[in-house]
Amino acid sequence: MTATAPEAPSGTAADAIPAVTPFRFFALEVLRTRRLGHSFLRVTFGGESLAGFRSGGYDQSLSLFLPPAHREHTVLPSTDEATWFAAWRAVPDEERPVMRSYTVREQRRTSGGGCEIDIDFVLHGDASPASYWAGRAVTGRRIMAIGPAVAENKSVRFRPPAATDALLMYADETALPAAAAILERLASGTRVTAFFEVPHADDRLPLSTPADVDLTWIVRARGAGKERTERVLDVLRAAELPSAEAPYVWLAGEAGTIRAVRRHVVQERFIDRRAVRFTGYWRLGASEEELLAEAYAGKAASEDPASAL
Ligand SMILES: Cc1cc2nc3c(=O)[nH]c(=O)nc-3n(C[C@H](O)[C@H](O)[C@H](O)COP(=O)(O)OP(=O)(O)OC[C@H]3O[C@@H](n4cnc5c(N)ncnc54)[C@H](O)[C@@H]3O)c2cc1C
Repeated sequence: MTATAPEAPSGTAADAIPAVTPFRFFALEVLRTRRLGHSFLRVTFGGESLAGFRSGGYDQSLSLFLPPAHREHTVLPSTDEATWFAAWRAVPDEERPVMRSYTVREQRRTSGGGCEIDIDFVLHGDASPASYWAGRAVTGRRIMAIGPAVAENKSVRFRPPAATDALLMYADETALPAAAAILERLASGTRVTAFFEVPHADDRLPLSTPADVDLTWIVRARGAGKERTERVLDVLRAAELPSAEAPYVWLAGEAGTIRAVRRHVVQERFIDRRAVRFTGYWRLGASEEELLAEAYAGKAASEDPASAL
């Protein structure tokens, strides 16, 4: 059983959707939940099929299918490579599980020979399906995911070239799980300048890393998207970055802010755009369906999106 999904343009939330095997469906069951900070809820999943799950680490993402509010578990009409997408889309709106991108914060083998994964959900309100689901997740709830069956896969985006001599990172809260997982895996002494933006002071989660990290937390003030982005840019502009021959930049978070930070890095810091890996994890005012619909519409000009399956 393998799963593929339509490929979307780079740098969008839809970029997170796995496009080619080695991805496949996994059945996940909630084992436990734990509140981390003000905005984060860690959900730990198990399930027999996870024995075949192979996270590539770093910012490894996966696609979750979450049930509508009136259902306890996710049921998909098909997990067959050739038919799942059309079958899923054909489900009536009120019954269709939503597909959302999340980060594998950690994968662990358990002493019993099983496997667990942690996903850290930002709780940003009950009007949004994934946030709503996470806020009510209890042991035994079952969902589905498309995730990696081999560790070398294109949903790991953090790929600094071997010659990299300094890292620059920006993440908002949705990308903090990915940033934390990246930091844990860096080689000892790697020079990192990091800017992590969170909604509350309580969200400044402890991070562990062997790297040499100069970290600035940006605790978000109230305000609309533009003010938020300006605040991030103010902090970046005021920062002194270490000189580097071959810097690598990793940016992930709200799409408008990511665009602005990328522009800053390329136009004001003169970092080669090819050394900048940027991903919009979400966009203010748009659900993930809307972002996917845009991405598919872009593709539809040249091909039928369903044919990319
Ligand atoms: C590769 C990748 C990895 C990701 N990893 C994580 C992760 O580990 N943890 C995580 O929490 N998120 C992660 N995200 C982001 C997550 O997919 C989005 O936040 C998603 O929109 C949440 O779905 P929803 O159903 O809650 O909201 P949606 O139905 O998609 O959106 C509804 C409304 O909520 C707004 N919205 C969406 N997210 C937020 C937010 N965080 N804060 C405020 N408003 C929001 C939207 O703009 C929209 O107006 C990741 C995204 C990508 C692309």
